[in-house]
Amino acid sequence: MNDRLISINPATGAEIGNYQIHDEKQEQKAIEQAHKSFESWRHISLKERGIVLKNIAKELRRQKEQLARLASTEMGKPIQQSLVEVEKCAWTFDYYAKEGLKYLANEIVATDAKKSFVTFQPLGVVFAVMPWNFPYWQVFRAMGPALMAGNTMILKHASNISGCAVAIENVIKKSGAPKGLFQTLLLPSSRVENIISNPLIAAVTFTGSTAAGRNIAEAAGRNLKKQVLELGGSDPYIILEDADMNKTIEVCVNARLVNSGQSCVAAKRFVVVKSVRKEFEKRLVEKMKVATYGDPFDTNNKIGPMARIDLRDQLHEQVVASISKGAKLLCGGFIPETAGAFYPPTVLTNVKKGMPAYDEELFGPVAAIIEAKDETDAFRIANDSIYGLGGAIFSKNRAKAEKLAATMLDAGNCFVNDQVHSDARLPFGGVKQSGYGRELSAFGIREFVNIKTVYIK
Ligand code: NAP
Repeated sequence: MNDRLISINPATGAEIGNYQIHDEKQEQKAIEQAHKSFESWRHISLKERGIVLKNIAKELRRQKEQLARLASTEMGKPIQQSLVEVEKCAWTFDYYAKEGLKYLANEIVATDAKKSFVTFQPLGVVFAVMPWNFPYWQVFRAMGPALMAGNTMILKHASNISGCAVAIENVIKKSGAPKGLFQTLLLPSSRVENIISNPLIAAVTFTGSTAAGRNIAEAAGRNLKKQVLELGGSDPYIILEDADMNKTIEVCVNARLVNSGQSCVAAKRFVVVKSVRKEFEKRLVEKMKVATYGDPFDTNNKIGPMARIDLRDQLHEQVVASISKGAKLLCGGFIPETAGAFYPPTVLTNVKKGMPAYDEELFGPVAAIIEAKDETDAFRIANDSIYGLGGAIFSKNRAKAEKLAATMLDAGNCFVNDQVHSDARLPFGGVKQSGYGRELSAFGIREFVNIKTVYIK
């Protein structure tokens, strides 16, 4: 049996890490340690928990350069984006250290009792199963609120980024946090179900594909454990007739190429009304053609490699299958003859239902343009998806777009004239097969708590 997890630099194909998988004894020991840590951490005041979070933020900033280099080497993210990601984690921990006091304060409710109130008590050990695309952000955005609420956490990270998984545990240790507050287990996904069924695991938070989310949901459901699922997406970017085309193109290119196209809330389907489709298409292609791909440490490159060769090949198959069903290739769409998991910025137009570019998530730098007859048709197409994570609307008429964003898009995060992104102050999550539950904000911090009623006669 293969008992190692291997990290491959996706820009070169070279092996850069080789990690021993934790055995079942180590797994049980870590879970027991997490539970022991929970029994004292749960009784620590919110203010003191906040100090621990602030120390973690400090340690993140201290290690920022090396953490960023590691992520860019292990999964290919452009280095500037890795640096921003680490800073975002630190900012979020500072944010919860302060705002958590407010979000988790008892709420007095007037009833027939002498006193009655709602208190937010932790659940226990939260098991986090996380993806490789934002190696730090996905983990820290789940961890910050969970720890602040008094839980402890065990992480199973994606198998291709064990270096980042170990580095995260090291940040927590170096920050001086209590032993067992957060631990990483190096495991293949086949061991996830077993951990979920461990009686000392109280809840599960998962970010990743819809297919894996279904397995996690089944396992958590069977064990009646609370779960939050952040799954795949195929975000529609709706371009209306009165969009400011200069700004729209700039946002759309960035939104499609962010993280080399591998973001859950990247722009995946451009739904453009007929009257401006030709102009949008022409200008998008101009920009996508000159967006360079290559070494993620060269800041002239807009995108790096994709995270793994198999994922790149899978994306190419989706492009080829879409073309064979009638989509028109406007740029890119080939596998470069260089080492590494590179894929060029690609644009497909004439995309229709029944093609992978319409029906599936394109997790890489491929833009799919879908023409809509008019505004009503645009929203019909936007919602014609199994996913409902994010979406954006482009129009100079802000008041109208605001109303459309609030009421017409079936998605958890709807932006007007901007790229969809997560922010610690706002809830983040999806509907339909993009998952359920929310991360971040007051809503996220209350996912892994016992919302307890106390009634005093
Ligand atoms: P993935 O293949 O689902 O993997 C995510 C995590 O789940 C990894 O730790 C993986 O472990 C584990 N896993 C895979 N199959 C599993 C199974 N059958 N049972 C239990 N665990 C399993 O996803 P990915 O390729 O890493 O990430 C890309 C996907 O994540 C995209 O669909 C993207 O949209 C989604 N995503 C969503 C959000 C959001 O907030 N909604 C954010 C980021 C990414 P191994 O690596 O060991 O297989």
